[in-house]
Amino acid sequence: MANPDRSKMTETTTYTLIDGRKVATEIKEEIIQRVNEIKREGGKIPHLAIILVGDDGASQTYVDHKVKACKEVGFHYTMMRFADTISEDKLLKHIDQVNKDPDVDGFIVQLPLPPHISVEKITEHIKPDKDVDGFTNRNFGSIVSKNPLLLPATPYGIMELLKRYHVQTESKNCVVVGASRLVGAPLSMMLVEHGRATVTVCHKYTKSLADFTKQADILIVAVGKPGLITADMVKEGAVVIDVGTTRVEGPQYKNGYAIKGDVDFKNVAPKCSMITPVPGGVGPMTIASLLLNTLRATELRNA
Ligand code: NAP
Repeated sequence: MANPDRSKMTETTTYTLIDGRKVATEIKEEIIQRVNEIKREGGKIPHLAIILVGDDGASQTYVDHKVKACKEVGFHYTMMRFADTISEDKLLKHIDQVNKDPDVDGFIVQLPLPPHISVEKITEHIKPDKDVDGFTNRNFGSIVSKNPLLLPATPYGIMELLKRYHVQTESKNCVVVGASRLVGAPLSMMLVEHGRATVTVCHKYTKSLADFTKQADILIVAVGKPGLITADMVKEGAVVIDVGTTRVEGPQYKNGYAIKGDVDFKNVAPKCSMITPVPGGVGPMTIASLLLNTLRATELRNA
C-alpha cells in the first residue's frame, strides 16, 4: 500500500505528492510474486507482444519502457517492428497471426499509426481477450458490465492510484477535463460505475471551464495543453490528477526538451490536498496496468 510520505509543506497548506513510480513499483513487486507462483505451479508465463510501426522517437521510448517492465517482472515478450510504409492489409494480416498464436497472451499496437492506416480498424481487429490496452469496443463496453474484462490501461492506472492513496470517490464531485476514447471517456465511466462518483466531463466545447473545475473534489485533466489548469481554477483541498504529457522543447532543458503536464503544478499544488507530478504520476501507472492486464489475460485464457 502506498505510504503518502512525500508531503510538501508550503505557506498555505500541506499537500501529498501522489507518487506513481512508487505505486507502479509496488504493483510490479506483486506481479513478480505471482509470476514466481506460476513458475512453481508449472503454469504459463505471461507473454506480451508489441507491434511498433515506423520510427517515431516518442513511440520508441514508450515501447522501450514496456519491454523493460516485462523484463523486470519476468514476462516473455516479442517485439515486432514494421516500416511506416507497411500497408493496412499487411498489418491486419500480422495481427491475425498474433491473434492466433497460442503462446501470446496479450498484445498491443503502439499508437500513433501512420495516416494511411485506420487506428479504429487496427484496434478493432485485435482479439478482445488479448487486447491488454483495453482499446477494443468489447473491453471499453465491459466497463459498465458486472464483469469488466481488460480495462483501458491509463484510466485503470488512475483508478488504482486513487485506490492505493485511499482517495474516496463515492459521492464526490469528480470533474474530468478531456473526453477522448483513450482516457477521458472510459475514465468518466469508471468513476461512475466503479467509483460511485458524480462526474462532469468537460471538453473543447465546454464554455467557462473554470466554473466546472472549481466544483471538483477530484479534478482529472487529460488534454495535452501545458498550463491549461491554473490555480484560480482549482478548489482548495482538491485532489488533482494530471494525465497530460506534452514534449516541450527549449534550450533551458537538459536533452533539449521537457515533459509537461496540463496543470500549472507550481501554483496549483499549494491549494491541493494531493496532486500527481508530471513525469512520475500517471505515466508509470499506465505501464503497470498493461502488466496487470497481461497477467489477467493469461489467467483468463488458462482458467
Ligand atoms: P486527445 O485524444 O487529443 O484528447 C484530448 C481531449 O481534450 C479531447 O477530448 C479534447 O476535446 C479535449 N480538449 C482539447 N482542448 C481542450 C480545452 N481547451 N479544454 C478542455 N478540453 C479540451 O488526447 P488523449 O489521448 O486523451 O491524451 C491527453 C493527454 O494525456 C496528452 O497529453 C497525452 O499525451 C496524455 N496521455 C498520457 C498518458 C500517460 O500514460 N501518462 C496516457 C494517455 C495520454 P474534443 O474531444 O472536443 O476535441
